[in-house]
Amino acid sequence: MSYDLEFVMIKPDAVQRGLVGEIVQRFEKTGMKLLAMKFLIPSIEQAKKHYAVHEGRPFYEGLLKYITSGPVVAMVWEGINPVQHVRNIVGATNPLEADPGTIRRDFAMTIGRNLVHAADSLENAKYEMSIYFSDEEIFSYKKIDEEWVYEE
Ligand code: UDP
Ligand code: MG
Repeated sequence: MSYDLEFVMIKPDAVQRGLVGEIVQRFEKTGMKLLAMKFLIPSIEQAKKHYAVHEGRPFYEGLLKYITSGPVVAMVWEGINPVQHVRNIVGATNPLEADPGTIRRDFAMTIGRNLVHAADSLENAKYEMSIYFSDEEIFSYKKIDEEWVYEE
């Protein structure tokens, strides 16, 4: 089975704070399929491509500094409506406005250190994963619980 793809990144603050396992587990437990995962420090070129849409905004320079400041975990998850599922798990951009039970509400204090990135559309997910992964690094495989996660 093949569904849609979402791009997610565990940001440097979450790595530093020891939240990688907790965050990955929240996505993993939904039944979504992990297709790619890479531990890397984003280059300034990658960061500029990733956040091109925010160029010129007051927080842009700080955002580039933040995202390039240390190792991150870049991931590709596959599922039905993965963008909505992932963004529901991540929560609102500002942790103050995020729902209880979301990553940002449970673990973050401020909008500028909100732990995780998730693409906001399938199109942007495709663009963002191409910044961090080659096609060969995004795997295709059968996961044994698929028939229990999805109706046939
Ligand atoms: N950001 C910030 N201040 C703001 C708005 C955004 O520092 O006022 C940062 C924050 O890290 C956010 C990222 O810029 O996650 C991208 O902003 P966007 O509105 O796309 O939020 P997201 O899609 O991450 O929820
Ligand atoms: Mg965004």
